[in-house]
Amino acid sequence: MIELDGSQGEGGGQILRTALSLSMCTGQAVHIVNIRAKRQKPGLMRQHLTAVQAAAQVCGAEVSGDAIGSLELWFAPGVVRGGSYQFNIGTAGSCTLVLQTLLPALLSADQDSVVELTGGTHNPMSPPFHFLERAFLPLLQRMGVNVDLSLLRYGFYPAGGGQLRVQIKAGQVLQPLHLQARGERIENYAEALFAGIPFHIAGRELAVLKKRLGWSDGQLLPKALERQQGPGNALLVTLVYEHVTEVFSAFGEKGVAAEKVADTLAKAVRRYLASSAVVGVYLADQLLLPMALAGGGSFTCTEWSQHAATNAEVIERFLPITICRRHLDEGVLVTLLPS
Ligand code: ATP
Repeated sequence: MIELDGSQGEGGGQILRTALSLSMCTGQAVHIVNIRAKRQKPGLMRQHLTAVQAAAQVCGAEVSGDAIGSLELWFAPGVVRGGSYQFNIGTAGSCTLVLQTLLPALLSADQDSVVELTGGTHNPMSPPFHFLERAFLPLLQRMGVNVDLSLLRYGFYPAGGGQLRVQIKAGQVLQPLHLQARGERIENYAEALFAGIPFHIAGRELAVLKKRLGWSDGQLLPKALERQQGPGNALLVTLVYEHVTEVFSAFGEKGVAAEKVADTLAKAVRRYLASSAVVGVYLADQLLLPMALAGGGSFTCTEWSQHAATNAEVIERFLPITICRRHLDEGVLVTLLPS
């Protein structure tokens, strides 16, 4: 039984999600205390509980402590079974984070899977659907695995109700990937998604990006969604290079000016554009788990977050992998080596 303290490092939900993924993949049971101890509302929230229940269903696990607010969880996995699954978070909790928890195990399952998830698809503090589709999954594809992802309905905080579907072929094996350079820049564009809110908000956001990034009108795409998929507003910047695509996002909030939302996003994009590191801060923490399962890999990133450091510590508890970092003139080189 692997013992984890959920208050270590970042002290958030990623410790739980990574532990669930790796427990399913390696067959090792896990006991976690102090779950999400450093969050304002500690313990299992709906999104985390859905991840626990979904993981348990997929691998027939024996579970104890799986309740809202629970600070402690025991999870003893069984055999991972592919198949057809539907999970409803019941709030605007992030579908993409639940999906990322299940994905590694389902790749190696005995049969193909189709998973449908209902909840938030474009949430602050989580990978938006388009980040998974454009940035994360193409890198998994380069690691040798194919996952077919579709967005059935948008879901924004706080209404939720979004839906995504993923099809996963059985028996896929992740291979090491070394991401040394972005390659040629192919295209850059910004999308302002809006549902059930006035068009001028999207227009103002895009105007700020135009000015701050020096872009042309052709790179600015307002996208009206059906009113009933809102209310919601997401601003996405997609930077496509030969070897990597990055997606930066920001979300409209009541009481926060559209200009401020766009300005914060422009700062993050400019930081990435000013660096030569291949991946940004979020891809950096999300690539660790698949690379560790592949038995190795490397990348340069603009920033090494506490979130990534904590994720690395959890991964090293489950797998014979050492995650090394070296600071470079621009960014950080991260290398995963068999230990
Ligand atoms: P909680 O405890 O509330 O579940 P957490 O601590 O696990 O939260 P975060 O640290 O905020 O959650 O991050 C969750 C995951 O979402 C991380 O893997 C991070 O890379 C990813 N993430 C957060 N924001 C973005 C974003 N804008 N784009 C892509 N990924 C993101």
